[in-house]
Amino acid sequence: MPEPNDGRALQRLLDELGRLPGIGPKSAQRIAYYILESDAETARRLSSAILDVKRQVHFCPICFSYATRDTCDVCSDASRDRSRICVVSEPRDVSAIERTDSYHGLYHVLGGVISPMDKVGPEQLHVRELMGRLADGEVKEVILATNPDVEGETTATYLSRVIRPLGVTVTRLASGLPVGGDLEYADEVTLGRAIEERRSL
Ligand SMILES: [Zn+2]
Repeated sequence: MPEPNDGRALQRLLDELGRLPGIGPKSAQRIAYYILESDAETARRLSSAILDVKRQVHFCPICFSYATRDTCDVCSDASRDRSRICVVSEPRDVSAIERTDSYHGLYHVLGGVISPMDKVGPEQLHVRELMGRLADGEVKEVILATNPDVEGETTATYLSRVIRPLGVTVTRLASGLPVGGDLEYADEVTLGRAIEERRSL
């Protein structure tokens, strides 16, 4: 629904752009003027891309990554190695690992990390669904790829403790990733190497 003309259309755009991550006031201004100076079709494509992503993208019911069809591209790809599941905290971590091209198994997105301070325990994450996926014995290895920070390590330790009794090999990304850093910001070579040189827990 377009807002009524209150004379603040440009300011509203600047405010909305300024709320985006990584966009400061200067960038917001640059983007706003770019849109203002573009033709109507360019503006329409941008706004419909934003609306479509909200309407058409949902969580994959198997791995909880983002999906545009019933299940995500990875879960629906028959060529993926179904004996491995890489556990990450957020869907964007899946993209980071996919970019390395070092991993061809499946994923499981927890939807966060264990954080007593934020009152997030295993029950608030997709841990039960992960355990369900391990029940039929097809998965031989679970790679814990939570971030190398305190909460990521706590989450990995917890998962390793509950998964190992199932007889599944549990591995953790090799060190070399910046401690306290975010998987998302690791370069592809470093992250790819961390996957290849993963260690048993
Ligand atoms: Zn999936």
